[in-house]
Amino acid sequence: MAVGRADGVFGKGTLKAVKQYQTRYRLGADGVVGPKTWNKLLTDGKNPPGVKKAAPVAAAPRGSLVTGYVNGRAKKIRVASVGGGKVMRADAAAKFNKMKAAARRAGISLNVNSAFRTMAQQRSLYAAYKAGRGNLAARPGYSNHQGGLSADVATGGYGSRTYKWMARNARAYGFVNDVRGEPWHWTFRG
Ligand SMILES: [Zn+2]
Repeated sequence: MAVGRADGVFGKGTLKAVKQYQTRYRLGADGVVGPKTWNKLLTDGKNPPGVKKAAPVAAAPRGSLVTGYVNGRAKKIRVASVGGGKVMRADAAAKFNKMKAAARRAGISLNVNSAFRTMAQQRSLYAAYKAGRGNLAARPGYSNHQGGLSADVATGGYGSRTYKWMARNARAYGFVNDVRGEPWHWTFRG
């Protein structure tokens, strides 16, 4: 879009420039900067001189890609938030968040202490476990936490309301409590 001078005024020159821009991108040359034109302006990388490329307006929420591990192999996985700064593989996170909302309606908070773990985090936990200073931790590369599939939920033990609620309801969201002795550890099986 050719703008002679950035005066902040939408004058005749701007109208002409907008129409030219809309014609170039087949946006319908009505001279009105609606959402389509605005998004195109922000994302086409051909902004007027002095205008930096900005993030698109109302970009669809997307998870980020991280390096996870499944059965000892590195794998790119897309993750999404489950609250508290923790993430899980996007499909597991979506189900977890639905379960969390249902739990909340029953007056129960599902707070996650640990979910997706990087290789460095798993190595550190494994070293602590081997040294007798931590909970059971799988060999680095082989934890379901590294695939973004497991969440450690602050349940408060097998007798707690939280554990009992999850024991009754988690299966419907694809989650199972799959490590004996760890009421907090829930894995997404889909
Ligand atoms: Zn766990």
